[in-house]
Amino acid sequence: MWTLVLNSGSSSLKFALLNPASGEVRLSGLAERLGTPEATIQLEHGGQQKSRSLGGGSSGGESYEAALGEVLRELETLGMRGAVRAVGHRVVHGGERFSAPVLVTPEVLGAVRACVPLAPLHNPANIVGIEAAQQAFPELPHVAVFDTAFHQTMPEVAYRYAVPQAWYSQHGVRRYGFHGTSHAYVAGRAAEMLQRPLPTLNLITAHLGNGASVCAVAGGRSVDTSMGLTPLEGLIMGSRSGDVDPGLHDYLARQAGLSLSEITAALNKESGLLGLSGLTNDMRELEKAALTGHRGARLALGAFIYRLAKCMAGMAVALGRVDGVVFTGGIGENSRTVRAQTLRRLGVLGLHLDEEANKALPRGDAGVISLPGGPVALVIPTHEELMIARETAVIVGGRGYAL
Ligand code: ADP
Repeated sequence: MWTLVLNSGSSSLKFALLNPASGEVRLSGLAERLGTPEATIQLEHGGQQKSRSLGGGSSGGESYEAALGEVLRELETLGMRGAVRAVGHRVVHGGERFSAPVLVTPEVLGAVRACVPLAPLHNPANIVGIEAAQQAFPELPHVAVFDTAFHQTMPEVAYRYAVPQAWYSQHGVRRYGFHGTSHAYVAGRAAEMLQRPLPTLNLITAHLGNGASVCAVAGGRSVDTSMGLTPLEGLIMGSRSGDVDPGLHDYLARQAGLSLSEITAALNKESGLLGLSGLTNDMRELEKAALTGHRGARLALGAFIYRLAKCMAGMAVALGRVDGVVFTGGIGENSRTVRAQTLRRLGVLGLHLDEEANKALPRGDAGVISLPGGPVALVIPTHEELMIARETAVIVGGRGYAL
């Protein structure tokens, strides 16, 4: 069974055709700058890449339709059109309504639309992507897989903010968490690598990409996570601030005359590693600059690691006992410096860095980077597309569709 996985952003569409059982990827790619005259699509198949212009003039759903039209044509060229059995969609926010993936129905689309105020940048794009894909593949079942769903198992003490009750009951102000697909995937892979049943394992997973979050996973269930109502809470990220004092908005409005939307934009786009370093949001560049003595780069790196380690140590409270920690995402998978310095700070949890193993681990590989005698530290490349394909297959299989 082949599953087409789609991740629709505000001006981009990532896609992959995979076999959920074997993980084989037959076709993948990215359409970018959708809705502009410069819209392009890149397709990769069998190690070969090609790029095409999608032409301008299209807007909204039309540009997604153009991109999906190209994907369809490529599937036909590869003789794979008839082999696709389902389409899995990444949806960012499922609110409290969705704690698991679901088959897309008009009612489900309505519920995703009702979550738009919670994710005004992401959910509208996800909806446009789903609707365009339903037109392109009308005969196939479509499944929505939510970034927030995995965290719906958090206990109330972890997900409630200490704010007026009505904000929660009337406006849904609570912590939801994101990156759920990635946290769930690496937790499952950790259990496989350690050859221990997932229900017996307590793990702290750190997804460190441009966005970054930590999750406490007890027996395969999320019991706390660092992101909250929005993906702005928690760790220092590429250009997002993570936690700040909630009094900041009022202070800046009065002192600097900034509007709410200006402050929010700056906290999302001009803060984090970029804001602290004054240089870049890119960890690779920061590491290079820190080596040459760039003060801002050193500060950004140091603060990122300090906040990460502090947050991971805090997750030990949610778990009681920590069996292992997992690093994933572009930074977690590739930055030996971030892993080493974070683990040195986590001696408090009994973790002991294996310096040699950390240095020797090839980029893109999974492996153990801790010494025996404490919780294990793992590096595991995430694979959100595969997880979405698997979840889609489970839903579609359970509904009695022919696989
Ligand atoms: P996204 O969240 O956009 O999917 P990624 O998971 O690809 O992002 O992570 C991007 C981050 O990973 C960037 O900060 C990038 O610099 C960092 N990164 C990638 N490769 C390396 C490397 N070799 N060393 C350090 N950081 C790296």
